[in-house]
Amino acid sequence: MDDRKGAPKRLKEYKAKRNFQKTPEPSGDRSSARGSAERDRFFCVQKHLASHLHYDFRLEHAGVLLSWAVPKGPSLNTADKRLAMRVEDHPFDYGEFEGVIPEGYGAGIVMLWDKGTWRPEPGFEDVDKALAKGELKFRLEGVKLKGGWVIVRTGGRGNGESRTWLLIKHRDEWAGPLDVATKFPLSVKSFGDFEDILAQDKPDVWESHRPAAGGAAGEMLSQIIERAAKLKARRDAGAGPRTAAKPKRPGSRATAARRSARPAAAKRRSAPNRRAAAKRPPARPAAKGAGRRTGRA
Ligand code: MN
Repeated sequence: MDDRKGAPKRLKEYKAKRNFQKTPEPSGDRSSARGSAERDRFFCVQKHLASHLHYDFRLEHAGVLLSWAVPKGPSLNTADKRLAMRVEDHPFDYGEFEGVIPEGYGAGIVMLWDKGTWRPEPGFEDVDKALAKGELKFRLEGVKLKGGWVIVRTGGRGNGESRTWLLIKHRDEWAGPLDVATKFPLSVKSFGDFEDILAQDKPDVWESHRPAAGGAAGEMLSQIIERAAKLKARRDAGAGPRTAAKPKRPGSRATAARRSARPAAAKRRSAPNRRAAAKRPPARPAAKGAGRRTGRA
């Protein structure tokens, strides 16, 4: 079965919300060459600073990316039920997108915060049916997020209309009281933060009409714009022919960035340790060590 057949119809809402002359986001016209239901499917989480900061959680299915906006981001703590608002399906190509949306729907900065593969748990292979029923259990194999998860619809009981879901970590060796969104804030694509992404573009792109003007997101954006402008100024100053001979790449910063793009837990549980890690109660030791190991506030 070709599971891409439904893609054009599924992207109607996505396309209606965007003007592709004005946004760098993929139009979704290029159909994906992927189709087999047998292999692991793609997933990603895009950290998106728009009018509010949120994390867009996306699972590849039927040629598109099923999408939920998670305001607080995913949590490794099994006690956390993270609110996840179902939003329009996105094109498959969107999964690798990172950049600045200058205006219109979703204006702001998008960072590829995590990516990898996912698969439904046994009994949930019929994803459309699971979504209609309002419960999908799955496994993630990402850089930051791993193991078993569930996403369940809540509110509007009995009908399929509610867009409100909860994203919850299952108890396994990848769970623990670790605030993964805060501890590992950086991109898994460029290894930088929002200001690094903005500095690639024009930091003054929003001289007027900032996507987030007030509140916490507005404050955050102001600081990011300021830092991006400094990064860009420094880079532009170093780009002249005089300094071109000795590239002044701040190595320590790049290394630190790379380190915090990926959780220590994921590295620590390499193959030899995995069996031991599975045996002990994972949660507590994982969280206590994590802060010390990364050495970042
Ligand atoms: Mn978003």
